[in-house]
Amino acid sequence: MSKVLIIGAGGVGTVVAHKCALNSSVFTEIMLASRTVSKCDRIAAEIKEMHGVSIQTAKVDADEVPELVALIRSFGPKMVINVALPYQDLTIMDACLETGVHYLDTANYEPKDVAKFEYSWQWAYQERFKAAGLMAVLGCGFDPGVTQVFTAYANKHHFDEMHYLDIIDCNAGDHGKAFATNFNPEINIREITQPGRYWENGEWVEIPAMSIHKAIDYPNIGEKESYVLYHEELESLVKNFPTIKRARFWMTFGQAYITHLQVLENVGMTSIAPIKFQGMDIVPLEFLKAVLPAPESLGENYTGQTSIGCQIKGIKDGKDKTYYVWNNCHHAEAYKEVKSQAVSYTTGVPAMIGAMLMLTNAEWMKPGVYNVEELNPDPFMDLLNIHGLPWNEQIDGVLPHEY
Ligand code: NDP
Repeated sequence: MSKVLIIGAGGVGTVVAHKCALNSSVFTEIMLASRTVSKCDRIAAEIKEMHGVSIQTAKVDADEVPELVALIRSFGPKMVINVALPYQDLTIMDACLETGVHYLDTANYEPKDVAKFEYSWQWAYQERFKAAGLMAVLGCGFDPGVTQVFTAYANKHHFDEMHYLDIIDCNAGDHGKAFATNFNPEINIREITQPGRYWENGEWVEIPAMSIHKAIDYPNIGEKESYVLYHEELESLVKNFPTIKRARFWMTFGQAYITHLQVLENVGMTSIAPIKFQGMDIVPLEFLKAVLPAPESLGENYTGQTSIGCQIKGIKDGKDKTYYVWNNCHHAEAYKEVKSQAVSYTTGVPAMIGAMLMLTNAEWMKPGVYNVEELNPDPFMDLLNIHGLPWNEQIDGVLPHEY
């Protein structure tokens, strides 16, 4: 019997709202709020039509703590699921503290004017959340999110010591557009145009963006060129599992995508430094976002599937062991169920599951700020199988990416 407030009505917000509505015995009252209320209303109408559940909608500017506080006070939720943009993480956490409400998000804080993301800003809330008796779960999408659940599960059940972790993320889908990003274009492009970084022997190794790549053989998909990127969950994983000697994150990109991105970069369209245009300050990347397809518009006719997993090498009972755990998700199946493509689906389902565990699992719900791998992975793994993201595992088999 819990009221939940979802903030953000983009690709991921759509999935979270549908999935909460499909689990209305846990999420007994749902409000979807965002900057553009018409998007919330469209999603609410879709949910009513598809699942027969009514949800409330509201307009909120989540950059403004007083607006958030007023909305939270008037609706009175038990928790907020933040699926707006990473820029709003801290204002929403502040509003949760002020109103005594639990918090969950899917991406770590990033200041708008510096393309830099790290957990320090949100980890700094630890004592305040503890003192208030509130819980904040950070990064509970797929990656970050399920990749940490997978790693925690491997650590708990398969290894005495994990040594090498490779997170491998493939989108082998086709949305039929010349160029589009599968989640918020601004955040996506900021992430992949940064230098790459991975963890090795106790330190971060920085590499030029997209400079390390190789073909990786993904299950039911085949070989796809994959690139080493810095990804936020690496930061908390190497802290929480200090036996890891090397941790890397690989993501696939098609050649057409890379060529478009290079051209956009070369002409200055991916810059976040404002320029003057007809007397106005314009941020080229924000303008680019405005002309690209919205992630939530890609779902219809999207074919193919995603495959995201963790492959781990380490030691069990004094012997070398390898473990690979992954999920494949079909774009078309996701669209049929919740009118979204698989990238939004694989993010929104874990956000709903994390919220469900906070509200229903006494072991999960505890005061403080947590990354997902710090919580018991077992009930999360069970719920993935139930709510649309079944996983597979392979012990001591041939790994998709050999070292
Ligand atoms: P979208 O751009 O599709 O949606 C973002 C939503 O947030 C929009 O509805 C937008 O409103 C709203 N919003 C933006 N600013 C504000 C504000 N100031 N106040 C209120 N609402 C605001 O993004 P996605 O749905 O693709 O991504 C959502 C989040 O999920 C992002 O943080 C992204 O990084 C994260 N993500 C995490 C993944 C994971 O696996 N962990 C994978 C993919 C995404 P408007 O419509 O008015 O612009």
